[in-house]
Amino acid sequence: MKIHEYQARELLAESGIPVPRGAMVQTVDEAEAQAKELLDSGATSVVIKAQVHAGGRGKAGFVKLVRTAEQAREAAKFMLSNRMVSPQTPTAGLEVKRLLVVAGVDIAKEYYLAITVDRAHDTNTMIASAEGGVEIEAVAERSPEAIHKMQLHPLIGLQPYQARELAFRLGLGGKQVSQAVSIMLKLAKLLLDTDASLVEINPLVVTSPSGEHPDGQVIAIDAKVNIDDNALFRRKRIAEMFDPAEENPAELRANTFGLSYVALGGNIGCLVNGAGLAMSTMDIIKLHGGDPANFLDVGGSATDEAVTEAFRIILSDEKVQGVLVNIFGGIMQCDMIARAIVTAAKEVGFTVPLVVRLEGTNVEEARRILDEARNEIPSMVAATDLTDAAKKVCAAVSVTA
Ligand code: GDP
Ligand code: MN
Repeated sequence: MKIHEYQARELLAESGIPVPRGAMVQTVDEAEAQAKELLDSGATSVVIKAQVHAGGRGKAGFVKLVRTAEQAREAAKFMLSNRMVSPQTPTAGLEVKRLLVVAGVDIAKEYYLAITVDRAHDTNTMIASAEGGVEIEAVAERSPEAIHKMQLHPLIGLQPYQARELAFRLGLGGKQVSQAVSIMLKLAKLLLDTDASLVEINPLVVTSPSGEHPDGQVIAIDAKVNIDDNALFRRKRIAEMFDPAEENPAELRANTFGLSYVALGGNIGCLVNGAGLAMSTMDIIKLHGGDPANFLDVGGSATDEAVTEAFRIILSDEKVQGVLVNIFGGIMQCDMIARAIVTAAKEVGFTVPLVVRLEGTNVEEARRILDEARNEIPSMVAATDLTDAAKKVCAAVSVTA
């Protein structure tokens, strides 16, 4: 589960990691008032930041540093009335409903700091770089030596000596070292305490020297926290941070029916039981020159209702020009799928070609049901096996396209 920056920085702040003062707002008026309050209480600048579940906001113009409450108002108005488009958003961009208004920070240098689940090493790994602020993937590609990694011990976690070593590798000195070490240790604790799969601060900055911090202060000015969905049952408070407005509506609907659905860019809708079969179905579609519109696993024990809903979701996707049903009936009974196809045909109608490949439990009964409904579903084609099904659906789609 993803959460917003304003929520993530609250978690950071509660862990004792320094973050700039500020608050989340939802209107232009609130943004102006919050900016005024920060400026009146000593901030020399204010940063307005769009709260969406995507990065690259800086370059997209959705992180703005301003000097007056009026400018804050303008920036807020722009962000709340335009969709944000960045390399990390869909091409149509994302609507912005919330803003974070924070005191601006005088930056001397930007760093990258994160901890994430590292499957290759069966543990969590801390990643740090002195080339912060920008996309870390780009740094990794351009200059991999600029990225420093430190594996956390699975039982005892990040050790202070490891944090110190990382701080030195980042080129930090003086009081900055102990500040950075403290942040690293707190971040490692936060990852475990929240069951996060990623905690990321990009950028972590060292501020320019000031009266209060003559050596500069190490402070987090961006925050990203992803939580492992499987742990949400025991992280009630974090589960409440879920913002349905940020999710794909079709994926949300699928979730409530216990379906695993992921929208993709292609035009062939897929309905499959089992994640492995769904993956191989997508692979074989690709192999025959097609492009899946979604990943959809109805699971081993889906109800009629869920399967009918699955068809509704697939058919409501405007990109879908053909549907491939690939079911291997084990616990799942093929006749139930056949009935769901008939129901979906009645309710929504298959205006696009439908290729069906069924095998396994109750397959004869399923074939009989579909044979009977042949007149009601003229666009339906039966396939003998997976390759046949993939070829047929790819051919059907390229004809319509
Ligand atoms: P992202 O682009 O979505 O990752 O948003 P960030 O919160 O990381 O902000 C992008 C960039 O804006 C940062 O890398 C900084 O260069 C700049 N920025 C953000 N906050 C401040 C601030 O308080 N002061 C200054 N001077 N720059 C900031
Ligand atoms: Mn950032």
